[in-house]
Amino acid sequence: MAEHAAAGHPTTEHAVVSIVDGNALAGLLQDALGPDPTMVRLECAHCSDAYVLAQAVVELEQNSALVRCRSCTHTLFVAQRSRGALVVRTGTVDLTFSR
Ligand SMILES: [Zn+2]
Repeated sequence: MAEHAAAGHPTTEHAVVSIVDGNALAGLLQDALGPDPTMVRLECAHCSDAYVLAQAVVELEQNSALVRCRSCTHTLFVAQRSRGALVVRTGTVDLTFSR
């Protein structure tokens, strides 16, 4: 584990940040997603409109869904079924949820 000043960190500009692996997020994500993922709050990085996932615009195809901002139509993310997994693709990362 390493520690460093949190310069540039979005929520704790003057705190000390511990650098750990992704296992530290297990409880945090499990609590946040809850039983209804459509209630996850989104904020568009392009226009700053905020709403829950259920209110987003979705272009749905057989194995994928492109999620757009309801206000400016900017692409928020793509969710795609791929080889038995769900891949959620944002602008910078692919999150793969194995079943
Ligand atoms: Zn937007």
